[in-house]
Amino acid sequence: MSGTRSITNLLPVMLLLPVLAGAYGAESQPLPRSGPVQVARWMDAKAAAIALVFDDGLPEQVQIAVPMLDALGLKATFVINPGKVHDGAGSAQATGWDDWRRIAASGHEIGNHSMTHPNFGTTAAASLEQEIVGAQRRIAAEIGMPCVTFCYPYNAETPESRALVAATHAVSTGGERKAYGGAGFTVEQANAWVDAAIASHSLLTGMIHAIEKGYSPFANRAVFQSHLDYIAGKQAQLWIAPLGTIGRYRREVAACTLTATMGDHRATILLTSPLDEALYAVPLTVTIACDGTPTDVVAVRAPGTTTLPATCLNRIIRCAIAPSAAPVTVTWR
Ligand SMILES: [Zn+2]
Repeated sequence: MSGTRSITNLLPVMLLLPVLAGAYGAESQPLPRSGPVQVARWMDAKAAAIALVFDDGLPEQVQIAVPMLDALGLKATFVINPGKVHDGAGSAQATGWDDWRRIAASGHEIGNHSMTHPNFGTTAAASLEQEIVGAQRRIAAEIGMPCVTFCYPYNAETPESRALVAATHAVSTGGERKAYGGAGFTVEQANAWVDAAIASHSLLTGMIHAIEKGYSPFANRAVFQSHLDYIAGKQAQLWIAPLGTIGRYRREVAACTLTATMGDHRATILLTSPLDEALYAVPLTVTIACDGTPTDVVAVRAPGTTTLPATCLNRIIRCAIAPSAAPVTVTWR
């Protein structure tokens, strides 16, 4: 039989793939679909992502927005100024650390919006350390978990502030944010932003301030509720998560290396990362193209028997795999 190679001799095939989304640059590119094993651009291979970021830690956000989000099971990011937060409970005039601890414990993200909300364009370099790093430490100490996201006050970035933020925070608001509320805002417009993000497979980062009274409010809370209902109805296509989670996912996708060994109804996947795995531990969605529709998909991290989430939809197996030096074996039948 020399000169003839059976199909089994061709397997396993070693594939060394750069993580594909990282090689695709502009967000307007469609999800890459070349090769049997890939890392999805967004978690669960959703078409797009949305991060609702609430600025300034306003009491209305605690009292009105958080209950609206919680009723729909949506998780958001609240960027606060720790220099303006009271000890203990909040009030109609100011928020308290008890508020933010409770909100963080329920799965929302508390991010850093600087200690006192200065404009970095006119801030003395000597105060940047306290405004950026001092605020981050205060939030982490009060909340009891790492503070990974920085949001620039007035969206004002300078080379000095950008360098300090990059050195200390995993994620920052930069680039375009969609401004919610204010004169002329309509829910149709905001819904169209979501549709455009889905069509272009991109991230929509919202910038939300007051809900009804204060800077840039909605006409009333029902307007915002209507938009949240619209988002919640799109969850099959839309990954809705805190910016710190989405931003870290994105950095992991750009930095990780994927090695896949394909076998018969089996794939061994190694997803390694040069990043700090304690901080960058958001599981990436690895997709495996398969024949037919397996009903039994099992993903196990070696060694041992740690089972990872794995499902199959439309002939694409999806596994949630955090970067690690330990390979994952996926089998299906
Ligand atoms: Zn602000």
